[in-house]
Amino acid sequence: MRIRDVRARLIELPYPRPFVPSWAPEGAHRSMSAVIVEVETDEGVVGVSGGDMGHSTGPLLLETIRGWIRPRLVGMDLFATQHIANHLRYVAEYVFPRPWVVGVAVWDAVGKACGRPLHKLWGGHTDQIRAYASFGEVRDPEQRVEDALLVVSEGFTGLKLRVHADTVAEDIAQVAAVREAVGPDIAIMVDANQAAARWRYRPDGSRLMWDFDRALTTARELADLGVAWLEEPLPRHDYRALRELTARSPLPIAGGEHNRGIGQLVRLLEDDCFTIYQPDANESEDIAALRDFGAMAAARQRRVVPHAWATGLGVAGNLHLSASLPTCDWLEYPYDPPVIVPEVFHVMLTKPLLPDSTGFVTVPEGPGLGVELDHAVVEPLTVLRV
Ligand SMILES: [Mg+2]
Repeated sequence: MRIRDVRARLIELPYPRPFVPSWAPEGAHRSMSAVIVEVETDEGVVGVSGGDMGHSTGPLLLETIRGWIRPRLVGMDLFATQHIANHLRYVAEYVFPRPWVVGVAVWDAVGKACGRPLHKLWGGHTDQIRAYASFGEVRDPEQRVEDALLVVSEGFTGLKLRVHADTVAEDIAQVAAVREAVGPDIAIMVDANQAAARWRYRPDGSRLMWDFDRALTTARELADLGVAWLEEPLPRHDYRALRELTARSPLPIAGGEHNRGIGQLVRLLEDDCFTIYQPDANESEDIAALRDFGAMAAARQRRVVPHAWATGLGVAGNLHLSASLPTCDWLEYPYDPPVIVPEVFHVMLTKPLLPDSTGFVTVPEGPGLGVELDHAVVEPLTVLRV
């Protein structure tokens, strides 16, 4: 079975109100910009995948697919996945750093051609996985208490808060208020979004740059609140500081969502930079190589819990990856009502990926990713295609 075409489109998902992600120095977002890839074979099987790109980088990925990826992949054996991954690695090094969403569409087609869901092809470690509600905005403690109680009442057993305040005391006040409201049995994750230089600025141009002492102080205070992990507390290439923080922190340190390529991930692991590694199937490396990375981490008593701040189609790839990893115990589920909700993020799927009343997401049993693109919905949302 050979690849006949690689198509991609950019869609815009309008938000019901402006949304201010904690990591965005540009301020409020009015929509989510998402790339959808389709890999068509000469036997009629079509693999789909979704990546989520900034408004400016989405068109760059489309141009990369048109000019660099399609010409190389068309005619290739669909099952030559290592060969395809190596072509994407070349593109990642020389053209555009995150072409991996194309590889996820290739694997969706492989699963469809085999008539099996991907997580089953990959060992079927689990059929369902606990989801944590991943918030995106920094809100005041009172509002976050209300939000946390809402998601817990809906069945979530874990939630992720963002901290981006001037002082440690303000950051901790938000987490402490939520801990007191939800009680000891709900997992609370905390994301500092300090890994990228750009995220360490705010819309007014001021800098919010954690140093090692702030990260360690915060980690110690969060440990007292029974927090599950502290995510991205320091720049992603500051290997020495990350290693020291992980060694001295009383709670797990997580990160790696945009440390790209297997080489960087292995470097992080060799340096023992994190307790929990968070590569993303659409953004970090070839999805199959991330499974290998999961095994490497497990052999070192380290966990891999993929990053998945993405639309429903983007979550689908990470869901299958997560369900096949030996040490993954959580699925990141973007959920920050009233903006980041399945009615917005999963609209491109004929059936949204929803957690059940106990907070678990069941891995779809259909072949490949087990999800279907709703073409009637996607068509009018499309702003660019190649
Ligand atoms: Mg994060």
